[in-house]
Amino acid sequence: MKSVLVAGGAGFVGSHLVDRLLRRADIARLVVVDNLWSGLVDNLSHIRDPRFHFEPSDVEAVQSPHLFDEIYHLASPASPPWYMQQPERTISANLIGAMRLRELLKDGGRFCYTSSSEVYGDPIVSPQPESYRGQVDCTGPRSSYDESKRCTEAFLFESQRVRNLDVRVVRPFNIYGPRTRADDGRAVSNFAMQALTGRPITIYGDGLQSRSWGYIDDIIEGFERFFWRDTFDYRGPLNIGNDREISVIDVARHVCKLVPGSRIIHVDPAPQDPTNRCPDLTLARQLLPGWSCHIPYEQGVKMTIDWFANQMRRERRAVSNG
Ligand code: UDP
Repeated sequence: MKSVLVAGGAGFVGSHLVDRLLRRADIARLVVVDNLWSGLVDNLSHIRDPRFHFEPSDVEAVQSPHLFDEIYHLASPASPPWYMQQPERTISANLIGAMRLRELLKDGGRFCYTSSSEVYGDPIVSPQPESYRGQVDCTGPRSSYDESKRCTEAFLFESQRVRNLDVRVVRPFNIYGPRTRADDGRAVSNFAMQALTGRPITIYGDGLQSRSWGYIDDIIEGFERFFWRDTFDYRGPLNIGNDREISVIDVARHVCKLVPGSRIIHVDPAPQDPTNRCPDLTLARQLLPGWSCHIPYEQGVKMTIDWFANQMRRERRAVSNG
């Protein structure tokens, strides 16, 4: 029976991964470490499983009397306004966090890391295969996130080379869906909340910049298969995402269709906003046969809006019940 640690397990993606892990019968103990910087206790409040434990702590300072068979490192903000506000802390959570967590891994244990498609920066190759080295400005406004993801990958792959560490590294592309914070600041959650509260939908720049939007359930399915279910020697990096590339303005227009009365405004472009992003999934298709992102953005965005609407109703009820 295994003991598992999930750093960042109270976050949007981390909490969905925790739900998936708890379906496994070979796990005796699952510890979530989270300092609730961008994570929320509410994301875990539905869990009644006695194997589950929550440890409020910074990832860099996590203490544990015992070592773990598997460690999942998702402790990082992922939204540009969040990481840009606290860039040093973002670098620390990723890199120093990985260094601390590695010390808590049993010999022969597995270290799984969620890197990011941000390692490709503003790409001049499309779609981006894992072998593409990217175009990142290491002094730019996104560098705390991009470069800490890149450096943490370096740390882990070097740990594999010099210590034979069993690592698994994924590079997810623009994940969205239920449990994103209402104040997260990324596109889909912003558009959903703006539409639902009668505020204008803010497009940064002309909206022609594109992303490949992956619904959370599809992404977690890919994580499960790569991190623990399927068997192969490849350790990563592996692109996990939806390879249907859609412009930001098209997503906003779709939200307008779903929430009648919504309107779009254009505001200043985000600094060094990547113009495009699309995964080359050749490797993922080879390693994880049958896996792909099945949920089109039209459906995923609707499910996300429905989830936010439901959350708003819940909060209103809670307020009116005192
Ligand atoms: N974006 C936008 N309005 C918003 C939030 C985001 O136009 O209110 C744009 C943003 O400039 C970017 C795209 O949507 O081009 C995706 O942004 P997000 O923050 O979701 O992810 P990332 O930039 O990290 O890919």
